[in-house]
Amino acid sequence: MKILYNLKIFFLFILFQSNTLISQMPVCGNEFFYDCTTTLRFDRKINKYLKFQRNEISQRSDIYINIVFHIVYEKDVSNVTDKAILQEVRILNNAFNSKNADISKVPYEFKDAINNGGINFCIASINSDEGIKIGIERRKTEISQIGIKDNLYHTYKGGLTAWNTDKYLNIWIADTGNNIRGYGTYPRQVPKEKEGIVISPKYFGENNSRRYNMGKTLIHEIGHYLGLKHIWGDKIGCEFDDLVSDTPDQEHRYIGCPDYPVKSCNSNDMFMNYMDYVDDECMYMFTEGQMERMKATIMIYRKELIQNSMCENMVITPKNDFRVFPNPTSQYIIIDFDSSILEIGEIIILDNLGQKIYNVKTYIYNKKKIDVSFLSKGIYFIGIGKVYNKFIVK
Ligand SMILES: [Zn+2]
Repeated sequence: MKILYNLKIFFLFILFQSNTLISQMPVCGNEFFYDCTTTLRFDRKINKYLKFQRNEISQRSDIYINIVFHIVYEKDVSNVTDKAILQEVRILNNAFNSKNADISKVPYEFKDAINNGGINFCIASINSDEGIKIGIERRKTEISQIGIKDNLYHTYKGGLTAWNTDKYLNIWIADTGNNIRGYGTYPRQVPKEKEGIVISPKYFGENNSRRYNMGKTLIHEIGHYLGLKHIWGDKIGCEFDDLVSDTPDQEHRYIGCPDYPVKSCNSNDMFMNYMDYVDDECMYMFTEGQMERMKATIMIYRKELIQNSMCENMVITPKNDFRVFPNPTSQYIIIDFDSSILEIGEIIILDNLGQKIYNVKTYIYNKKKIDVSFLSKGIYFIGIGKVYNKFIVK
């Protein structure tokens, strides 16, 4: 398997170097990693689970997946910011819970199929003797197109070694050349140290690319990582299926932004699904069937991912003081941290008797707006860690 995988990486490399790819449209690398023998076994297991144990997962809404981002960059422009990472995590949480604004664009005939959500993402962190380590690692490298090379997975070879891939979703943000946007493989398709996703910085978060500029490439790749196939079933023809019952049969992939409706295999196609190839602005849904398949994949192959929900209870003390404005206020306050470093902390509001009346555990970055319109007039204290500031609601 390892040899096969390395051969494929080598093949990919040659392919891109020689520029002989038929389509010049950057694609999802999973087309190259598709391996019938491993997925057959995998598909049988998933189907069996969904037949007999579906009730274990259908209503679950508490699956938290901790992500570690490894940014391995050659050029500084590829060193994506903390802000872009936070933005991408927000995009993921919206997409996997149907809270994205463009979900309203789903055509009427597919509205009943919209997924009910239940998978959430956050940035990993670990408590150690040296303090808290946040799951964002950066490294400058001299290796070009490291995103399609074995070096990526090893710190000693110029890349960054994964955190425990059973417990964390590892995402490498690294140059994958011109023809590939990213890839995320099925469980057990690659050696453990390579489990996860590779994505090009050009298509990460909201970006300047022409077609894939809304941070949706990572949604698609996480779909693969959690067991989803492309919606057309990965091969051209109506007889190939994505094994999800509430996505219509579809003959082939779509690119660009088709005008709805378009038809194949005797039904309208759900090209606006995240597992098709359309432009970011034209894809905006997973179905409930896909959500169940992803949850089943987690329960069978990636269960340890959800046994580690540190992001919910992580509290740290910011080193710096912060400023609160406007003050006095009536609607909201903005907490201004003198820091552009991403931290995770608990924000607490106390009344003038010292009683806790509000708290939220959240990512803290630069500035944070908090709605305080629910507070009655009076003096309050807002605290992060051990630092408290007074503010007045008028
Ligand atoms: Zn794909």
